[in-house]
Amino acid sequence: MSNTGKHVVIIGAGIAGLSAASYLLRNGYRVTLVEQHTQPGGLCTSWKRAGYTIDYCVHWLIGTREDSRLRHLWEELGAFTNKDGSLVPVVNFSDFATIGLSSGETIRLYSDLDALQKELIRIAREDERMIRRFCRSLGRLSKLDNPRTAPRHSLGSLFADLRDRVGVFITIMQHLEPMGTYARRFKSPVLREMLLSDIPEDWSLLSLTMGLSQQLTKSAGYTVGGSLNLARNIERGIHAMGGTLRYGTRVEEVIVGDNIATGIRLSDGSVIEADHVVSAADGYQTLFGMLGGRYLPKVLQRAYETYPLFPSTVFVALGVDRDCSDLPHGFSPYLDRPIELPDGTVHHRFSVNVYQYDPTLAPSGKTLVTVLMNTWEWNKWEVFREHDKKAYEKAKVHIAEEVIDRLEHAVGNIASHIDMIDVSTPHSVIRYTGNWQGSFEGFAPTKATLSRRLPKTLPGLRNFSMIGQWTTPAGGLPTAAMDGRDLAVRLCREDSVPFRASMS
Ligand SMILES: Cc1cc2nc3c(=O)[nH]c(=O)nc-3n(C[C@H](O)[C@H](O)[C@H](O)COP(=O)(O)OP(=O)(O)OC[C@H]3O[C@@H](n4cnc5c(N)ncnc54)[C@H](O)[C@@H]3O)c2cc1C
Repeated sequence: MSNTGKHVVIIGAGIAGLSAASYLLRNGYRVTLVEQHTQPGGLCTSWKRAGYTIDYCVHWLIGTREDSRLRHLWEELGAFTNKDGSLVPVVNFSDFATIGLSSGETIRLYSDLDALQKELIRIAREDERMIRRFCRSLGRLSKLDNPRTAPRHSLGSLFADLRDRVGVFITIMQHLEPMGTYARRFKSPVLREMLLSDIPEDWSLLSLTMGLSQQLTKSAGYTVGGSLNLARNIERGIHAMGGTLRYGTRVEEVIVGDNIATGIRLSDGSVIEADHVVSAADGYQTLFGMLGGRYLPKVLQRAYETYPLFPSTVFVALGVDRDCSDLPHGFSPYLDRPIELPDGTVHHRFSVNVYQYDPTLAPSGKTLVTVLMNTWEWNKWEVFREHDKKAYEKAKVHIAEEVIDRLEHAVGNIASHIDMIDVSTPHSVIRYTGNWQGSFEGFAPTKATLSRRLPKTLPGLRNFSMIGQWTTPAGGLPTAAMDGRDLAVRLCREDSVPFRASMS
C-alpha cells in the first residue's frame, strides 16, 4: 500500500465519517476520527435498556440484495460481517407497511407488484388506470440497485443495462413531482389519504416510491442485529487498519490559516493538526459554528435559509413480554383519539415497528416494539427541557402512557405485557447527534432540493471537505456510506494515489 503520509481528521463517526475513515485508511492515509458521542453510528444507533436493545434507525437499507451494486459497497466496508465472522442476516417483508385510514379501512403496501396493484385497485377501483400506471413506474424504479443484467461482454446485455438505467433516470425525474399534486390526480379520497398519510404535500413522490420500489426486488431489507451493529462492524475494520478513534470528544472549531484548513480545536481547547479536515458532522454546526459562517457559497446559504427539513422524532420504545408474531411488522394505525404532544402537534397516526423478526433485540420470548411520531417543533422541546426538567420527564411518561393506550386499542394484548419503556425526544436527537433542529435525515426531498447538487467543498477554503446527509438532500445510510467512498476517491486522485477499494 502506498503511504501518502497525509493526516486526515474526520469530524463525526456517523456512517459517512466511518466510511470515509475506512476508505482513506486502506489508501495509505493516517486518519483520526473525532466523535462527540461515546460510540459510533450517529443517527444509525441503538441503545440498551432492561435487557432489550432499542433500535432507532434502520428500517430498510438499500443494498441488502446479495447481487446488487450497493451491497458491494456495504461489503467493502465490512458492514455486513459480524464480530464472530457471520454474515448479517437480512429480512425481507411481504409488505412495506400497513396503513390505517380514517374510514376504518386498512391498506397493505405489498412488496409484490401484482399483489400491490390488486390491493390498490380493491380500495380505489375508480382509479384503476392511474394505479396501473403508478405500478408500472414502480417496476421501472425497482431496477435502481439492480446488478448489470448479464455479463458485460454481450452487446445485448449492455443495451439492456443501459435501457434499465435510462428507465430508472426518467422515472426518478417523474417522481420528483410533489406528493400533493400527485395525490390529487387520484379520484379516490381513500387513496389520497393514504398517499399523504405520512408525507407532506411538497415532498416528492419519490419519498414514498424509493423505499416501496426497492421492496419489489428485495433490495431494501432489514439487517438483523440493528443499526449500531452495522456501525460497529465498520468500526472494527478502522481499528484493524490502525485508525485513531476519539470518542466523547467534541469539535468546536475548524482551524484555518491563509484560507487553508490546518486542523481542529476541541472543546477542551486542544488542537489536532491535519493535512485535510473532513466534516461528516451536522452541516449547520459545521458551516456556522466550526467555520463561523466565513465560507458560505450562495447555494448553501439558500439551502439553510429555504430548504425544508426532515422532521425530528418523538420515539417510544416498549419491551413487550410476549411473542408478537400475531402483529404486522410495520403498521400505522389511524387513531380515533389523536395524541397531542407537549409541543402542540396532534397525531392521528403513528408508525409502529414490531421487531419480532429480530430476536437479537429482545430477551427470549419477548419483543421490542417501537413507535415514531414526527415533529418539527424541536425548539419547544429544547426550551421545555432547559426550563423544567421534571415536567419534561413527566411528559415523557405521559406520552408513553398515551402510546400504550392507543396501541392497546389498535391491536390489543399489549398493555399488560409491557416490561420496558424508553422515550426519546427531539432534545435527545440534538444531544446525542448534534443534528440541526433534531432533523433525522437533513434536507427533505422536494423537487427543488433534489434538483440541485450541494457542494462538498467550500469556495476559498482549501484542504476542507464536507460529507454526509447534510450535503445530499434526502440523506439516508447509502448516501452517507457512498459519500465516504467518493471523498476517498477524490483525495486519492488529487494526491495521485491509485484508489484501492479492498481492505486487504
Ligand atoms: C429514526 C430514524 C430512522 C431512519 N431510518 C432509515 C432507514 O431505514 N434507512 C436509511 O437509509 N436511513 C434511515 N435513516 C437516516 C440515516 O440514519 C441518516 O441519514 C444517516 O445515518 C446519516 O449519517 P451521517 O453520517 O451523514 O450523519 P450522522 O449520523 O448525523 O453522524 C454525524 C456524527 O457527527 C457527530 N458530531 C456532530 N457534531 C459534532 C462535533 N461538534 N464534534 C464531534 N462530533 C460531532 C455526531 O455525534 C454524529 O455521530 C433514519 C434516521 C432516523 C433518525
